[in-house]
Amino acid sequence: MPELPEVETVRRGLELQVGRFPIGETIVCRSRAVAAPKGDPDGFTAALSGCELAGWRRRGKYLVAKLERDGAPAGELGVHLRMTGQFQWLQREERPPCPHTRVRFLSEKHELRFVDVRSFGELWFVPLGTPTEQVITGLTRLGPEPFSDAFNANYLRQRLKGSSRPIKNALLDQALVAGVGNIYADESLFMAGIRPHTPSGSVSAARLEKLRAALVKVLELSIGAGGTTFSDFRDLTGTNGNYGGQAWVYRRGGEPCRQCGTILRRDTLGGRSSHWCPSCQR
Ligand SMILES: [Zn+2]
Repeated sequence: MPELPEVETVRRGLELQVGRFPIGETIVCRSRAVAAPKGDPDGFTAALSGCELAGWRRRGKYLVAKLERDGAPAGELGVHLRMTGQFQWLQREERPPCPHTRVRFLSEKHELRFVDVRSFGELWFVPLGTPTEQVITGLTRLGPEPFSDAFNANYLRQRLKGSSRPIKNALLDQALVAGVGNIYADESLFMAGIRPHTPSGSVSAARLEKLRAALVKVLELSIGAGGTTFSDFRDLTGTNGNYGGQAWVYRRGGEPCRQCGTILRRDTLGGRSSHWCPSCQR
């Protein structure tokens, strides 16, 4: 599943490769992909066609594009890739849409195509003047961005106080911190030397600060590598990122720890697998 670094990689691709994109025509191939206006693909098409995509921001795993019409603000376009959503950047008529094509944005010369095999991805049109969170309601539940000042050891200590929930599960909670999934939770816990099962409330402020720093570092590394490698993630050019090749623990259960040689463990915590080193993590 795309996590923060992958979504950020897609955002950068949209900014750098696509840039400002004048939508001449919008084609909705599968109406389920349109989350707002819900059940109204024609309304979505009418709202988007003739607009220009004028810059993308990311919040958690959501992407939001500014829309302009004749140079004036015209609302926003929200996108969540979910499991397998991806954008493809093509010359117009470069290749016919595959069966998994959900939405097509066409300009005179290019096409920005939203393809989604599992079909859980969503697109929202946010009308001008309507608060973004009112349409993309998932945004209201997001905790701070891991790179923001609001995400610090103090904040973590306050939020986790008295909690017996394993620290690994807490990290996966989007309301605690936005955008972190299994890979980066496992990797940052290894880097901070904290066992994934540790009750959140018992982690000291000093160790929480180590964890925060580790999380930021591993996310930055992965963004630099173009997002991690996993089967479904492709950036706009169809390239797989390459963080996975250098993972400390993620998906390495049964293999020796890169730091100490101990055989790494793989346990299930909160329904997700956790990979960790019994001697490096305490
Ligand atoms: Zn180790």
